[in-house]
Amino acid sequence: MAAKDLPLVPGARPGSMAAAAAMERIREQRPAIDKEKCNLCRECLLYCPDAALAIAGGEVRLELRFCKGCGICARECPARAITMVPEYAGDRGLVGEE
Ligand code: SF4
Ligand code: SF4
Repeated sequence: MAAKDLPLVPGARPGSMAAAAAMERIREQRPAIDKEKCNLCRECLLYCPDAALAIAGGEVRLELRFCKGCGICARECPARAITMVPEYAGDRGLVGEE
């Protein structure tokens, strides 16, 4: 059975697997989702251990405050639509803004 055929019953409440405040301190990379490649198969939602991903408005949305940057979503995406990008670079620190 494909992930997209599973009922939309989350296994965990978003962010319930870890304190959201800790994620900013431990995350070294974050997922970047290519909307052109994504086919909404939901595999990433199924595998994310922190329920940081959801489908809303016809696209995959990342709730960054719940993401610890483990990269499982990128590894499991069959369409290779997710790339992990560094959270920090050079002397200036944070790459992306919330
Ligand atoms: S990002 Fe990848 S795994 Fe997630 S829904 Fe899109 S194609 Fe599927
Ligand atoms: S990097 Fe890990 S925690 Fe973040 S969205 Fe992907 S699977 Fe979830």
